[in-house]
Amino acid sequence: MEENKKDLELMDKIVSLCKRRGFVFPSSEIYGGINGFWDYGPYGSRMKRAIENLWWHEMVETRDNVEGLDSTIICHPRVWKASGHLDQFSDMMTDCRKCKSRFRVDQMPDPTKCGNCGSTDLTEPREFNLMMKTFVGPVFDEEHTAWLRAESCQPIFVDFHSVRVATRQKLPFGIAQIGKAFRNEINPRNFTFRSREFTQMEMEFFCEDAQGMEFFEYWKAQRIKYYREKLLFSDDFFRIYEHEKLAHYAKAAVDIEVKFPFGWGELEGIHHRGTWDLTRHSEFSGEDLQYMDHDNGRKIMPTVIETSVGLDRTMLALLCRAYDEDTAATAKEGMEEDVRIVLHLPPLVAPVQAAVLPLSKKLTENAENLYKDLNRHFRSEMDVTGSIGKRYRRQDEIGTPFCITFDFESGADNAVTVRDRDSMTQQRVNISQLRSYLEDKIGI
Ligand code: ATP
Repeated sequence: MEENKKDLELMDKIVSLCKRRGFVFPSSEIYGGINGFWDYGPYGSRMKRAIENLWWHEMVETRDNVEGLDSTIICHPRVWKASGHLDQFSDMMTDCRKCKSRFRVDQMPDPTKCGNCGSTDLTEPREFNLMMKTFVGPVFDEEHTAWLRAESCQPIFVDFHSVRVATRQKLPFGIAQIGKAFRNEINPRNFTFRSREFTQMEMEFFCEDAQGMEFFEYWKAQRIKYYREKLLFSDDFFRIYEHEKLAHYAKAAVDIEVKFPFGWGELEGIHHRGTWDLTRHSEFSGEDLQYMDHDNGRKIMPTVIETSVGLDRTMLALLCRAYDEDTAATAKEGMEEDVRIVLHLPPLVAPVQAAVLPLSKKLTENAENLYKDLNRHFRSEMDVTGSIGKRYRRQDEIGTPFCITFDFESGADNAVTVRDRDSMTQQRVNISQLRSYLEDKIGI
């Protein structure tokens, strides 16, 4: 119980830091907000973009056999008929007749009792489709109904043929996409964890059926390596959950789960989807999406291995893992130490990687030249206001791994002091070596 309270307090602290320092805040807040929608502020959008770029680099740019795609959010409505979303993408929901609260049945600790007021007077569970509806064209009727995509991967299947022909890729190869998805979640909750508008980073890998399990294991290992080596997840922070119940077409499925303050939650799904997706889109569109292997004259329907991760959940996981309070020396009167809030973010995705802090306003001009130079290679910031201690605290709070103090000696010895966020140790580094010093530390 005590633990639980501490975890909830931690979540409150993270939400409040995100708002205060411009990471994430409620969308349309001056109108009272809109449940399940979040805006990313200046530091949040920097960090989000850094995660996105890192994923794209690892999954697309460094691989000759993975191509990129940027498709539309609204597709032909039959895409969602073929994918099964219009008929099956639903959750069971129930309403409390007494207090009018609404719940997703599979998330209720006791499905016979209202989680808000304890009443047992609940409506019969009924299905609720999560697809968000809109209209295309000037007439708002059934014929003009369209849907915001509920996952970013369906257009990958739909465009499979065009991408393959354009790139002359042969099996096995993948197609990746980063983009928005929309779900009319019954109960948006846990900050950005369950939102109604969110971003997915997905990769569909197409191969021969006989190689399916081999590639499933390959991608599972690749993704685990990425979390360990790039996002610096430790083994007590994430785990692999193997699905016991599989979709009828699937051969294997695992989730990568993360320990959030509110409990373990899915971050990424890695699924062996068989030939289901391309077969369905072939049937519904009338286009033959089979792959013609010109080497042996065989036509086959490719098998698909999918890796699917939420960008918002990745960022939330990183923030939850990074948040810490420790003590640091202070110049405050009557105190030697004070609590410091620090985000131990991996340097690769920190919103600011290097902050240049001139010791005196008189040094601003020279420090600015250094800042401009660093900013071409690292996400950098310059801060001239307040005591050096205050400036360190400000940078600690947003997770800046390296603070660079430009002092009165710097002009003469062409060197600066680099302070490490985590160890709080300082090192004198020659400016001519600074770029390679930081690249090495950041892991670029
Ligand atoms: P959950 O069981 O949590 O609802 P899911 O199994 O429906 O998730 P997928 O359809 O496999 O999720 O989507 C892939 C990824 O997209 C998830 O692992 C998650 O990171 C992200 N995601 C899914 N739904 C949401 C949401 N409502 N808000 C934020 N991210 C989401």
